[in-house]
Amino acid sequence: MKYTEEYARELDQQDPLKDYRTKFYIADPTLIYLDGNSLGRLPSGVAGQMMSEINTAWGERLIRSWNEGWYDENARIGDQIALLAGAEKGEVMMSDSTSVNLYKLAHAALKFKKGRTKIITDNLNFPSDVYILQGLVREFGDDYSLQIVESKDGMTVNSTDLEAILDENTALVCLSHVVFKSAFRYPMKEITSLVQDAGAMMLWDLSHSIGAVPGELNTANADLAVGCSYKYLNGGPGAPAFLYVRSDLQEKLESPIWGWFGEKDPFEFLLDYRPAKGIRRFLAGTPPILSMAPLKHSLELLLSAGMNNLRLKSSAQTSYLLKLAQEELFELGFQSGTPADPDKRGSHVTLRHPEAYRICKSMIDPGIGGQVIIPDFREADNIRLGITPLYTSYMDIFKAEKQMKTIVAEKLYEQHSDKRDAVT
Ligand SMILES: *Cc1c(COP(=O)(O)O)cnc(C)c1O
Repeated sequence: MKYTEEYARELDQQDPLKDYRTKFYIADPTLIYLDGNSLGRLPSGVAGQMMSEINTAWGERLIRSWNEGWYDENARIGDQIALLAGAEKGEVMMSDSTSVNLYKLAHAALKFKKGRTKIITDNLNFPSDVYILQGLVREFGDDYSLQIVESKDGMTVNSTDLEAILDENTALVCLSHVVFKSAFRYPMKEITSLVQDAGAMMLWDLSHSIGAVPGELNTANADLAVGCSYKYLNGGPGAPAFLYVRSDLQEKLESPIWGWFGEKDPFEFLLDYRPAKGIRRFLAGTPPILSMAPLKHSLELLLSAGMNNLRLKSSAQTSYLLKLAQEELFELGFQSGTPADPDKRGSHVTLRHPEAYRICKSMIDPGIGGQVIIPDFREADNIRLGITPLYTSYMDIFKAEKQMKTIVAEKLYEQHSDKRDAVT
């Protein structure tokens, strides 16, 4: 009886972060957005931030803006992300996309661990990460190999299975801290020590964890990390990504792309490359100033809410979602695709159903008068529901699951085709 609309409303009223929702631009108040783990919502302050960047910094100040803040913008934003990632100032830098950063850091690690030729990842990882590693194996040569640890339950990976294939030939282990489909969260500290004990380097992809779970890069003694800023960080579509290199490793590693922004003094215009000191050496070309502008505002929201408060709400909401699913949805063919223990998951929940694709289509396009709900679909049968505690309410979750129940109980999904769209 507890899972009623009144109870959801009560939980919202008691929510200490409830006012943050008003800091976002909500074009359609009836729309339920559960995809902030794929593309975060637009904070209302971003448009003003960008207009000032365009009209004042670019329009009026023109090229003088490079000396009035632009040159260090990516380091400054990196320092703010460091606060969320559990790293120090000077250890995080905005640059390129996640895929490109992964390439640069994995390449640097392989060079540093020359003589060791094995890379390890898992079969739950984001495909782009696996492609980058496959490309590196091709580039480094025949003696290199990529070994993929298989998940036994399709949801989690046992530390012991990883440990079993770590050996003195392993150069690099590359994993997503929070897995994109199941939301499984690796124990970062435990895995990092296992990898380092074997003499290898650990590279974490934080794309689905940054801004969703408190960062622990320094407490885990992580070597390297990358992550994106358009998911929980609300940086906008294609916002630049970040990379992290632990401070004592920065002088030891080398970027494979020797661009002028990674040079010691780009404006000396010397013809012989010298890597910059510190994390700057992992930059390549001119940073996308306008594309970084939203983050100056968006990160303030996360930092002022506080990562621990966000995590508390997120865990409570993912637990609420799963309990409600257990009571109302499992009897209709749904099952959980996410670890039951909140410590072992990030901030999204995956519900699996044989008709997942058409259920998603029905949620997004309910027909006249229906409530629009935006989750996303991940092959083969996963409906991913992203919880973004800055703006997700308990009522959103309650209504979404109620609608999912109706869609399946009344077979409303049958009105939709099973043919996949280009972007799901
Ligand atoms: C979203 C995501 C990416 C995205 O990479 P881009 O280069 O920014 O397109 C990479 N890895 C993981 C784990 C992700 O979740």
